[in-house]
Amino acid sequence: MRLLPFSSPVDFEHCVACDTPGEGHWFVFRGDQLLVEMGPLERPSDDLRVRARPAWAHVPLQKNHNWLGSTPVRRLYLGVLDGTQCWLAELPAEAEAPGGMSWQGLRTLFSVLEDAHFALAGRALQLIDWDRNHQFCGRCGTPTEAKREERVRVCPACKLSAYPRLAPAVMALVKKEKQILLARSPHFPPGMFSALAGFVEPGESLEQCLAREVAEEVGVQISNTRYFASQPWPFPHSLMIAFVCDWKSGEIKPQAGEIEAANWFEVLQLPKLPSKISIARRLIDAVVEEVKSGTDV
Ligand SMILES: [Zn+2]
Repeated sequence: MRLLPFSSPVDFEHCVACDTPGEGHWFVFRGDQLLVEMGPLERPSDDLRVRARPAWAHVPLQKNHNWLGSTPVRRLYLGVLDGTQCWLAELPAEAEAPGGMSWQGLRTLFSVLEDAHFALAGRALQLIDWDRNHQFCGRCGTPTEAKREERVRVCPACKLSAYPRLAPAVMALVKKEKQILLARSPHFPPGMFSALAGFVEPGESLEQCLAREVAEEVGVQISNTRYFASQPWPFPHSLMIAFVCDWKSGEIKPQAGEIEAANWFEVLQLPKLPSKISIARRLIDAVVEEVKSGTDV
């Protein structure tokens, strides 16, 4: 099983309530920025969106459960990592970092924070987003209440339940002999290409979504779809499900407004690619490796 960035750590137990708050790791956010202790920004980055990464960084480990005082907008229990409690908190948008700490985006902290902490930071960011967006019932407007035994907010008036939401999205790397199809959307950093991706529509299977997205975005028909891996993606709440497939028919025709450019690329002549933080890069690397070594995916 491939354990990609943001996947749940193996020694983590998810919990909703804690009877005896004690020493814990704290995942504290201000907007989408995490509170960390860190060294100077001097490590190179493989992410075109990140200029440099810190030499080292870690999330605060605190003995005193109330170390943030009354500043948090919300505070939730995440669970237990290897015997240590894990908590999340959100501070107001204007909150200053406590002495010796600073705010950093998760992309900057990838490969710097310990893997397990990085994954839990992603989980915390999604739960903050969910908790913030479901303070009131979406059906009748009544303030909702958190349940102690389950990760859900319930409306006391009409009983509507709001669970953390996930948006499944498929990703397709299309192969044609020794070439792969890569495309760029207008909001990518300059020069970067990636695999095709899109959100699953209600009433659609993953395979159907894949065929539709590829046809819509580049006008190509596919066959022989093979599952690759999946990845939680907390920006804000996606689950990426990646596949490899073969070209069946059609010429590349980029979809206006969505796809700025799309091409077949030889595996020895690739453009700039996404960071290893993403399943897109893991998928591209795996297929490129297989094409180069002559084995087939
Ligand atoms: Zn309601």
